[in-house]
Amino acid sequence: MNKCTALIVAAGRGSRFGGDLPKQYCLLSGRTIIGLTLKALADHPGVSELRVVIHPDDLDIYHRAVAEFSGSSGAVLLDPVYGGASRQESVYLGLESMTEKAPNLVLIHDAARPFIRHPVIDRVMAALSDHAAVIPTLPVTDTLKRRHGNGITGTVDRSRLVRAQTPQGFRFCDILAAHRHARENAHGGEMTDDAAVAEFAGLDVITVDGGEENVKITSQQDLRQAELANMNIRRRETRTGTGFDVHRFESGNSVTLCGVLIPHTASLAGHSDADVGLHALTDALLGAIGEGDIGHYFPPTDPRWTDAASAIFVEKAFELITDLGGRIVNIDITLICENPKIAPYRAAMKEFIAITLDMDPTRVSVKATTTEGLGFTGRNEGIAAQAIASIELTGG
Ligand code: MG
Repeated sequence: MNKCTALIVAAGRGSRFGGDLPKQYCLLSGRTIIGLTLKALADHPGVSELRVVIHPDDLDIYHRAVAEFSGSSGAVLLDPVYGGASRQESVYLGLESMTEKAPNLVLIHDAARPFIRHPVIDRVMAALSDHAAVIPTLPVTDTLKRRHGNGITGTVDRSRLVRAQTPQGFRFCDILAAHRHARENAHGGEMTDDAAVAEFAGLDVITVDGGEENVKITSQQDLRQAELANMNIRRRETRTGTGFDVHRFESGNSVTLCGVLIPHTASLAGHSDADVGLHALTDALLGAIGEGDIGHYFPPTDPRWTDAASAIFVEKAFELITDLGGRIVNIDITLICENPKIAPYRAAMKEFIAITLDMDPTRVSVKATTTEGLGFTGRNEGIAAQAIASIELTGG
């Protein structure tokens, strides 16, 4: 397997960022940006070593930032090296520091891109098996204008433009040679990425798809946005709740199950409409958010709920979930009885619940079973129902 070293460029002062602390050492959700970046790279199984290029003034804060470094795949964090006055110079010095180890491949990555995910690294590394230089890119979606002063002098054809990201992947010997070549022969402005250095040396650079999440944090606003995005990712979690209910038969000619009126030789006894399916569902929804049970909100002693349609119980639970910023992922209800037969009404039940909870019907399941003539349901004394609900919470 090819040996691959990640070279992380962290020597910048962050002039667009403001403050005394270079942005790569700022905290994002309690961890340094550079720490998050190193962890993301080190966890990729293709990365065997990491080297960071730092500013000489940052040695202490660098060591504090990486004190808890560990990669799940055993990647080794090498000692840092000092960078130069420009990004290009810093990368050059980083590459020169690796000549003894001479990896086959190198991934050059900005320290301020902590959200790099493995699919992007996978694509870069896969393309490196056939190419010397590979960069992840994204299309340009905004219309681009050419400006002169405050006026517009033209519109740029964006179809041929892409936005370049990192990590940019190279065969080590080729990019080292390209950087040496650029130092000796390029006397214009600084090249702002390593693909430009490769292009200048005549290497073919090919592109693979980058990732929209792989943003570079360059301003305080970027940091705040990244913090929010990170919080949302961290806080999103799935909760489940279960519910169970039983109502006994009494004389009558219909039952209401999961919101659907079904002609029958008996009715279900209860304070409300005795919809055992919706009662179990309500308890499952309340259970998932730790909000007690149906009796807490709708005590059977309260005359307001006499003969009430049980949809209002489900709607109350739904409202509590919505107030928490939650979303119902799916629900599954099982009705347990010998009679009436449920199958002819299942589609209507699913539709009723999907509409009540504003859900896609494919996320709603209603099933039925008998107890083989055993127990109270087997003796046609009543109907039981159980339900499970899965809820995604993003708020807390
Ligand atoms: Mg009940």
